[in-house]
Formats: sequence, C-alpha cells, structure tokens
Amino acid sequence: MSLSWDDEAASAKPVVNQAALAASEGSAEQVALRVNADDKRIINGKTDVNQLVPFKYKWAWDKYLAGCANHWMPQEVNMQRDIELWKNPNGLTEDERRLVKRNLGFFVTADSLAANNIVLGTYRHITAPECRQYLLRQAFEEAIHTHAYQYIVESLGLDEQEIFNAYNEVKSIRDKDEFLIPFINTLTDPSFTTGTVEQDQKLLKSLIVFACLMEGLFFYVGFTQILALGRQNKMMGAAEQYQYILRDESMHCNFGIDLINTIKMENPLLWTPAFKEEIKQLFLKAVELEYAYAEDTMPRGVLGLNATMFKGYLRFIANRRATQIGLEALFEQEENPFPWMSEMIDLKKERNFFETRVIEYQTGGALNWD
Ligand code: FE
Repeated sequence: MSLSWDDEAASAKPVVNQAALAASEGSAEQVALRVNADDKRIINGKTDVNQLVPFKYKWAWDKYLAGCANHWMPQEVNMQRDIELWKNPNGLTEDERRLVKRNLGFFVTADSLAANNIVLGTYRHITAPECRQYLLRQAFEEAIHTHAYQYIVESLGLDEQEIFNAYNEVKSIRDKDEFLIPFINTLTDPSFTTGTVEQDQKLLKSLIVFACLMEGLFFYVGFTQILALGRQNKMMGAAEQYQYILRDESMHCNFGIDLINTIKMENPLLWTPAFKEEIKQLFLKAVELEYAYAEDTMPRGVLGLNATMFKGYLRFIANRRATQIGLEALFEQEENPFPWMSEMIDLKKERNFFETRVIEYQTGGALNWD
C-alpha cells in the first residue's frame, strides 16, 4: 500500500467513539506493567526493549546524540593530493608505502569484524534500549569506516585482493584477528545466552576484549601511523579520514567502558579475582600482539617513529584501559610518547587539525521540501 498525502480519509473529520477510546486505553493491570526506569538492566533485563523511555542510562543516550552530531561520510574528503603523492615515484619511501598498505590491510576488515560483532552478537544480549540505540548508531559508524578504508584503497588504486586478504595472509594482522575471533564467536553463536554467572562472565569478557583491546588498543598503532604521515603533510586525505575514525572509535571505546562498568555494578558477582586475572592476561597478550604488528609495519623506523616508541605507547594505553574498567595498571609509570594523539581525539570537527576543509553537520543539513 502506498502512502498518499491527500488521502480523503486523512482529511476527513474524525468521529470520536468514546466507548472505543476507553476500551483502547490500558486496564489497571496493563498500566502496572508499564516500564519503570528502575527495573531496567543492561543484561538479563525483563523490561520491554521496545520502549526507549523512561531513560535510565542517560550516558548511552547522550553518546548516541554525540555520535549523530559527529556524522561524516568518506566521499566528502578530497583524495586528490594523496593520489598524486602515491603515483609520484618519489612521493613516498618504500617503508612509508609498506606502512600504508599494512595499515589498510588491518583496517579494511577490522571494522567489518566490529560491525558483525555488534549486529550479530552484542546487540541481542543487551536489554537496555538506550544502549541498543547507541549500538545501532555505532554499527552504522563501523560501516562508514569500512567504506572509508575501501575509498582510500580505491582512490590510490591499490591491489584490492592484496589489501582485503591481508588479514588471512599477513601474519602480524592474522595473529591479532585470531586473538579476537573466539570472543566474537562467543557472542554471535546463536545458541549463546546469558543468565548464569559463567555465561555472563563470557559476555563481559567479550565486551572487554572488544572495547578495551580491539577498539581501545589494536586500533591505536594504526591510527598513530597515518596521523603521523598527515602531520608531515603526506596522505592528508587519508589522515583526515583517520582523524574522524579515531574520534568515532574513541567514543565506541568510551561507550564500551561505560557499558562494562555498569554491568559490573549491576552484577558484582561477575568480578571475581580469577576473572580479573584472566582479563589481565588478555591485556598482556594484546599488548604483545600489537607490538609485533608495530614491528612488522615499521621494521626500520619511519616518520620519526619506531617500534620501541610504540612499546611505551601501548603500555600507556593498556594502563589507561585497565584502570578505566577498575583493574590495576599493568605496567610501571608509562608516559605517553605521542601527546599529540590526545589532541587529535579531542579536536572539534570545525577546527580540523589538517585544515583541509571546514564542514559543519551540527547546524547544517536541513531538509527542504520544495
Ligand atoms: Fe568501533
């Protein structure tokens, strides 16, 4: 049936049938079943997931609004200078080219893994509708990121098969993905359900791996590399896209951490000493894998960066993620060797770091019906 705006029925005067109206309103029993915000739970909740309000988890709704306000699309970024630089035989060193290809080799499939993890896994286990609302936005952002990487690969005329198969064919990338996949498989297994301490711990562990180690750690060597190129006026279009992706991902990571901490608060039995120890070991393993990736992508040091600097950076980030979810810091007093990365995360879109262009979604984009 197609909608018609000048349907006669729509413009006809409504006839109010008082008896029908009274019958259509809820009975006292039905009213008693209305959602009470206090009854909502992030996992194993019994309230109606179709009713967004009344809000309980305002932080999730606020992040949904912030994610929408940060909306961007890859095609808006001009890639012409990147294309010229890439085609110029003297434009980039061999090490820089290797870095770009390995970098894209990880990211072109990483955000598909992330999107599938949300849509086929996490989403159905989360019973708070305001958190689901954020996850829907997040899933779309993961699609935009996959689009952005594809757009860079296409713009530069790279070998698509080589880049999209890197996660099968390049060991340092495959090792990272093989670490992640069992945790994604837990959540996407159609027979997986929550409701016991053991199962809820499995869910929590997967959420921690996804937010703190995948989005919160595995992405950061890659982001730093491309943004470092941008700081040297190389691959500015790609760097601009990575800057937007970094901003989105830091929000994904923060949402995940809020989600994890709220689940912990609502289910204190899950946070046992043995569980914490298991999480700590996963953090250590992830740092090791990401360091191996840094060494593989920068075997000789490039752009004033080298793998050893990343060792410090990874330890710094791992400490931060650990303390954000209530674990002790894992490494002694690590300083951030790349303080400029924090600026990148915090920058507002209208003050673009690379000053390549100015766009403003927050006030623009009104629909025009004429
Ligand atoms: Fe993400």
